Amino acid sequence: NDIRITLLGLGDMGTALARTWLAAGYRLTVWNRTAAKAEPLRAEGAAVAATAAEAVAASDLVVACLLDDASVEESLAGADLAGKDLVNLTTGTPGQARSRADWARGRGARFLDGGIMAVPPMIGVPESGGYIFYSGSREVFDAHRETLAVPTGTSYVGEDAGFAALHDVALLSAMNGMFAGVCHAFALVRNEDISLKDFAPLLTGWITAMASNLGVVAEQLESGDYTKGVVSNLAMQVAGNATLLRTADEQGVSAELLAPYMNLMERRLAAGHGEEGTTGIIDLLTR
Ligand code: NDP
Repeated sequence: NDIRITLLGLGDMGTALARTWLAAGYRLTVWNRTAAKAEPLRAEGAAVAATAAEAVAASDLVVACLLDDASVEESLAGADLAGKDLVNLTTGTPGQARSRADWARGRGARFLDGGIMAVPPMIGVPESGGYIFYSGSREVFDAHRETLAVPTGTSYVGEDAGFAALHDVALLSAMNGMFAGVCHAFALVRNEDISLKDFAPLLTGWITAMASNLGVVAEQLESGDYTKGVVSNLAMQVAGNATLLRTADEQGVSAELLAPYMNLMERRLAAGHGEEGTTGIIDLLTR
């Protein structure tokens, strides 16, 4: 394989990405601020550049996987990006990605942003279900499609350079809410004569079953009819919240993770939407 790639950043994620390209026979040039981290990869066949500018000069495709947006700007400050395809896999906000796209274009590069939906052990393991969201230049995505698919799956989500970050952050935000609920659930049962090892798969099964229904929320939002397909109406759910809160109290568990969500449910119910599910909460957050 004659394809050259430059990779900037050899943290846990960058190193995992690098190994997949080396294993697939790509001609990889790497650079890392702390040079020692490049030595194991040199032994595995990577060319090691002394500076980021030198690394950028080695390939037309430049991938950055650095800590944050500021480290991308700092690392690439002295590099000539003219004619390069810059693929930025560094986590940032949608706004940062859009600004970085303008910045890259201003320096003569085509720009593709990425949001990595995987942890390093999932990289190079197709059955792990990991993938990377991409947005920005469709030409860059199409030109390097096979190369980008080597470390993990790919999902192109639009020409707006901010969309990969937006998808990434939306999924991570949902994950936070889910783990908040999981923390509360474990807090309820941890001091009882209940096997936590047996409890965990029950939690996984329940969360998975409930999450399979999210298409209904999307349909409700798109149609504007929030009563369509409702199986657990808001009035019933708010009544049920009293049981959840009383149980927390009986178990000596703080309800502080549940309270903000329950408050929003009550506000929506008080506004006369008892026949809906919880989709109306999205209006309270965004309007
Ligand atoms: P690490 O903390 O392991 O590595 C950070 C990398 O950024 C190192 O190469 C570090 O260099 C470099 N760096 C930090 N600051 C600067 C700077 N000012 N100038 C130049 N280089 C700098 O992080 P990861 O490799 O795990 O993560 C990299 C990116 O991937 C992040 O944006 C992260 O959000 C994203 N990501 C990571 C996941 C994970 O689970 N690890 C999952 C999904 C996304 P040095 O070695 O010199 O410190």
